[in-house]
Amino acid sequence: MRQLAGDILFVNLTNRTWWREPTPKDRLLAFLGGRGLNARLLWDYLKPGYNPLEPDNIVIFGPGLLSGTAAPSSGRTTVTCLSPATGLYLKTSGGGQWGAELKFAGFGYIVILGRADGPVYLWIDDGKIEIRDASKLWGLDVRATDLAIKQELGDADIQISAIGPAGEKLVRFAAVMFSVYHAAGRGGAGAVMGSKNLKAIAVRGSGSVAAAKPARFHETVLLARKSLLSDSAAPGLARYGTSGSLNGVNELRVFPAYNFQRSCVDDVYPLTGQYLAEKGYLKRRVACFGCVIGCHRFSTVERGTFAGSYAGGPEYETMSALGGGCGVIDTAAVIKANELCNIYGLDTISTGSVIQWAMECYEKGDLGRKELDGMELRWGDGPAVSQMVRKIAFREGIGDLLAEGVKRAAERVGGETYKWAVQSKGLEQSRVDTRSAKSYALAFAVNPRGADHLHTETFAEFGLSPEARALITKIAGDEKYANPYTTEKRAEIVRWHEDCYAVTDALGFCAFSTTALYGITPRFMADLFSAATGYHIYEEEIMQAGRRVVTLEKCFNTRMGAHRKDDTLAWRLMNEPSPDRPDTVAVNSKAELDRLLDEYYALHGWDPQTSWPKRSTLDRLGLADIAAELEGAGRIGKE
Ligand code: SF4
Repeated sequence: MRQLAGDILFVNLTNRTWWREPTPKDRLLAFLGGRGLNARLLWDYLKPGYNPLEPDNIVIFGPGLLSGTAAPSSGRTTVTCLSPATGLYLKTSGGGQWGAELKFAGFGYIVILGRADGPVYLWIDDGKIEIRDASKLWGLDVRATDLAIKQELGDADIQISAIGPAGEKLVRFAAVMFSVYHAAGRGGAGAVMGSKNLKAIAVRGSGSVAAAKPARFHETVLLARKSLLSDSAAPGLARYGTSGSLNGVNELRVFPAYNFQRSCVDDVYPLTGQYLAEKGYLKRRVACFGCVIGCHRFSTVERGTFAGSYAGGPEYETMSALGGGCGVIDTAAVIKANELCNIYGLDTISTGSVIQWAMECYEKGDLGRKELDGMELRWGDGPAVSQMVRKIAFREGIGDLLAEGVKRAAERVGGETYKWAVQSKGLEQSRVDTRSAKSYALAFAVNPRGADHLHTETFAEFGLSPEARALITKIAGDEKYANPYTTEKRAEIVRWHEDCYAVTDALGFCAFSTTALYGITPRFMADLFSAATGYHIYEEEIMQAGRRVVTLEKCFNTRMGAHRKDDTLAWRLMNEPSPDRPDTVAVNSKAELDRLLDEYYALHGWDPQTSWPKRSTLDRLGLADIAAELEGAGRIGKE
């Protein structure tokens, strides 16, 4: 078990000490690993009143429990901290090879405490730990940092997670980058690393990760792999990546364009994965550790204004945020902006969101050429988008305002600009128009990290594959609920996906294998957990553990002061109907959201007045100590 879970490495940057502790078995069985155990460590070490960008914040890295094994698509790592964007709970995750390497070095978690008195990076070479000087790395972009560390340590196979200039400059949506092109992007974990003067974590491991019951584990891995590859949507995801779904999403009128002023674009083809492949931008497919799908890709631009650019993806979210959202229907321009986000260490979703908010401010006269450093920031201007990305990363001119995120930027500019700041809890909304996707609307409103899909991905509600429709039938009792426009059964659909996603993250699986493709079912996850740990667990029990994690995250935000009123959506989506659904008034109204929230809190056993979990609910989930602390603080739900 110890070999599978890895130890917890604590690093105090303030006094440059470190120590290791075994991962407690009871915690592992309760919270599964990865995101789950990270959440429990955050609860234990971070108290109310702490500040996201001060030394008292902590940042935790936790690969999934099965990362480093042969379980398919299980190589993801969760990064957990207090978010500089929201001041609330943040978990964000990234792919690549880094998490598996950390497990090979014998560690399952790294807890970073304090702040170094100058730039440093952490070097983990199996059991040997060094906190090294990073003065020469400070200011370098992610690509250059990756190269410089590998040269300094003399090993090209070292795995590196790093921040770019955006993290150093405390941009509130700075990403932690793994292996250069894989981002733990959302919520600003990169800025937390920057605030600690921690430039990078380099890892080399020579061990392996063993299952308690190897034969049973191997047999289940083969079945799970077969199941994943037989999903009808698997070949399309492998061939065209996540942006292969743009056509369908655009047709459903849930593809946000022009800063959510529209719900589709007239010609989406140049932003699709199909176009990337057919026009020769796509150079190769890329897979995270142990992945049998390989949806991540690598693209280059060989001609024109952006010749010489190269980047991972671009993914669906990036094509939308830096493309359609800004009115840029130009493949090469998006690849360029994507590349800059990757090497400067920025979340592409939030970056695109603040740029399109500024474009609308320019259009409406709230920001003029003077405030925009002499620029004319018009819809569709690809080179201007790239210029803005750089300004944000380095906090130059207008970039200093935009680096604060749309919520704070709108508060500073004032007037009516908050109406088109599309965010909730302070996080810019990811790229689904929730006016016409009601499970997403509820999931985004209640998401503890803000309006975003990578906590509860309810893609199945679109019913775009037989497997998606079968899942909705299993959850809601009828295939007719595979309809994003209906508000019926949304609470049930959201709660199931919350549980499943928490298990997915805890074990290290990629959500594409569980909630976009559906081959890795909860049953497979329970069987793999059982064979890997030697502790038998049923499907219902592993989903219950997922709910324990979701509830703990809710408790964390409750302790930080969050309330029902925080579970909401952006002003625009609650007040301006989509112009691209002339068949109906497509909007997220207060009355509709209130009804969905009531149903959702009731399903969870949370108090509908406050949204706070009840004592009986927490006791039932084995969270009695959490309940006692909330009760002591007067923040427990009424029975
Ligand atoms: S499906 Fe894509 S994102 Fe997920 S593990 Fe595989 S390559 Fe990585």
